[in-house]
Amino acid sequence: MAALRSISKHPILLLESCSSMAHFKQILAQTITTTIIQDAFHAGKLIAFCALSDSLNLDYARLILSLTKEPTIFSLNTMIRAYSKSSTPEEGLSLYHHMKKTGVPPDNFTFTFLVRTCTQISSIGYGKVVHGSAIKLGFELDGHVESALIHMYANFGHVESARQLFGKSPDPDIVAWTAMIGAWAKCNDLDRARECFDRMPRRDSIAWNAMITGYVHAGYSREALSLFDDMQRDGVRPNEATMVSVLSACSHLGAMDQGKWVHVYIEKHRLKLTVTLGTALIDMYAKCGNIDRAMEVFCRMQEKNVFTWSSMMGGMAMHGHGDACIELLGRMREAGVAPNEVTFVALLHGCSVNGSVEKGREFFNQMVGVYRIEPKAEHYGCMVDLYGRAGLLSEAVGVIHGMPFDPHAGAWGALLGACRLHKNLVLGEYALNKIIEIESHHDGAYVLLSNMYAASNQWDGVSGLRSLMRERGVRKEPGCSVIEVDGVVHEFFVGDRSHPNFREIEAKLGEIWGRLRLEGYMPNTTQVLFDIEEEEKEDSLSRHSEKLAIAFGFISLGPEVPIRIVKNLRVCTDCHDVTKLMSKVFGREIVVRDRNRFHHFRDGTCSCMDYW
Ligand code: ZN
Ligand code: ZN
Repeated sequence: MAALRSISKHPILLLESCSSMAHFKQILAQTITTTIIQDAFHAGKLIAFCALSDSLNLDYARLILSLTKEPTIFSLNTMIRAYSKSSTPEEGLSLYHHMKKTGVPPDNFTFTFLVRTCTQISSIGYGKVVHGSAIKLGFELDGHVESALIHMYANFGHVESARQLFGKSPDPDIVAWTAMIGAWAKCNDLDRARECFDRMPRRDSIAWNAMITGYVHAGYSREALSLFDDMQRDGVRPNEATMVSVLSACSHLGAMDQGKWVHVYIEKHRLKLTVTLGTALIDMYAKCGNIDRAMEVFCRMQEKNVFTWSSMMGGMAMHGHGDACIELLGRMREAGVAPNEVTFVALLHGCSVNGSVEKGREFFNQMVGVYRIEPKAEHYGCMVDLYGRAGLLSEAVGVIHGMPFDPHAGAWGALLGACRLHKNLVLGEYALNKIIEIESHHDGAYVLLSNMYAASNQWDGVSGLRSLMRERGVRKEPGCSVIEVDGVVHEFFVGDRSHPNFREIEAKLGEIWGRLRLEGYMPNTTQVLFDIEEEEKEDSLSRHSEKLAIAFGFISLGPEVPIRIVKNLRVCTDCHDVTKLMSKVFGREIVVRDRNRFHHFRDGTCSCMDYW
């Protein structure tokens, strides 16, 4: 007992229960008065504690290091590692120079952290110097050093250097393999990344995660989800990073069942709902069309950061709830969280869907005047949209001309959208010309303008635009809608006959048309001939992809379940009219996410108030 008590009094052991800076200072004072601090081993423990723990204090760590007579390599590595993650990573390099001068030999960890430092400060020059030293001292092919180097070269876009390095290793370890997957993914060569992944002799959760995340970042959401299934089958436990990537894939696809599965998994396995994970869940529910569930998760989260608030606000705006979006700003301020540039995108978007021009202008001014946030292209785009939607077209043009950098296609696109809404053909033509100067293959812009010509019976304009598209080789992205049923994502293209349930879908569509005609629906056939809007004009309106997907929803979902569709393009006028009518005639809630927003169809009306 006596021995135990005396051990528990050793100041270094007190570190285990130390949770505040004040307590740490007491411990530190004890180590100084008892001269324990002069012992290099104990000093290392103290340094690691304040350099790497949550109460991170690099200045103290540096101070302790300076009090240590002969610091161990562990202490020095700890410092370099801590610096590499700090806002002053270059301090690590100067510490390394100091090490060389004082004759402390570096080890593999020193090089691993130094390479990370070079990645952090984006210096390929220093990176090559460090790489050279690692070769000289025989550390180049150490698994950790090698993978840090691969990662560094990939970050600088030198994938060939990464590949050569990887090829040199006779027996690369799992860390190096994973780094190489990341390197291929980084330069968007997902086939090569996958090849690497498939050739790996052994895979841990980090390797699975690298491949899944690679797919997600490149926009291959289906591949990501299918690989996630394989991961489950292999019995590999997903970690937080995997969950975040999978949720992002679900958001992109509108695959809410799979997203919900992740949510249940988190709860069942009592995983900590971290801020990042919680924010990813909010984003998933919002983008999959269930804003109420998003709000539930939001309310239950104990810790929220600026991204959590911004995601919730962005979700509200996307669903047309401008007031709720703006209201959240007040609550966010009360919670002591300052808005950032992402928050302002959400806010301006909220004002735009609400038609609150004055408020939007005020926020834009506050952004610069109060929060010192430099507006980016996206913010200007929101302002164009805000004015344009409200019919203030000359103000919208004024915003574009007042931008401190070259206007991007998005700003002109917002103007073009406003021109369509307010039927201003002349300004619309001007906007289109600007867009194709920047992005000559922007199919959506041609389609919008062509639709405007059609709406005002200017068929010359329509055919002129079509030949211009042909001349320039602009191909229209085919319309595609997806619907998730029992966790399986079904994809429909315009005029698609490939679905196994095609006959049933045809029959259902026939039944739907019958009911709608009784309600007085007449398809707008003049539009069919000339409208090259969201889908090819050759296909009759009744085969637009979202109609096929909705019909499939009627067949395969329970009668009370809302039908949720995600579409890659804007919804066309006819589909919008038909869906409104369907929601009334069949008493069914239908939610469509198109390229820009959500449409909640209920009792014959849409949440977008027919402005989209
Ligand atoms: Zn349509
Ligand atoms: Zn709508």
